[in-house]
Amino acid sequence: MKEHKEPSTMSIWDNVKPKKRAPACTEVSLGPDGLELKLAWDDGHRASLSGRRLRQYCPCAECVEEWSGKRTYDPETIPAGTKVLELAQVGNYAVSFTFSDAHRTGIYNWEYLRELSQGGPVA
Ligand SMILES: [Zn+2]
Repeated sequence: MKEHKEPSTMSIWDNVKPKKRAPACTEVSLGPDGLELKLAWDDGHRASLSGRRLRQYCPCAECVEEWSGKRTYDPETIPAGTKVLELAQVGNYAVSFTFSDAHRTGIYNWEYLRELSQGGPVA
C-alpha cells in the first residue's frame, strides 16, 4: 500500500481526474472593496471566493495544527466582511493574502484555491 499523505480533504477533483495534474490559476484578482477574489484556472474553471472564506480556511501552521491537521479555531467565528487587503503571488504555484485582521501567513496554492471554490475543504 502506498502511503497517502494528504489530510482528510479529498476534493471532488481528485476523484474525477486522479491522474491529471492540478490546474493552475491564470488569473487572481481582488475586487475593489477587498471582499471578493476572482479566480480563473487554465482548464477554464472560474470562481470567486470571499475574503471571509479565504480567512476561514487559512492553511498556515498557526491556523491548522501540523500534527493533527485540526483547525485551531471555529471558522464560524471569522466575522462577515473580512477583507483581503493585499494579494501577493508566491512563486508560480500559490498566492498569499493580507487579511483585514492582519493575518498573512497562509499560502494558498492553486489546488487549494480550487478546493475552496468547489466547496471543500472543511477541516
Ligand atoms: Zn493562518
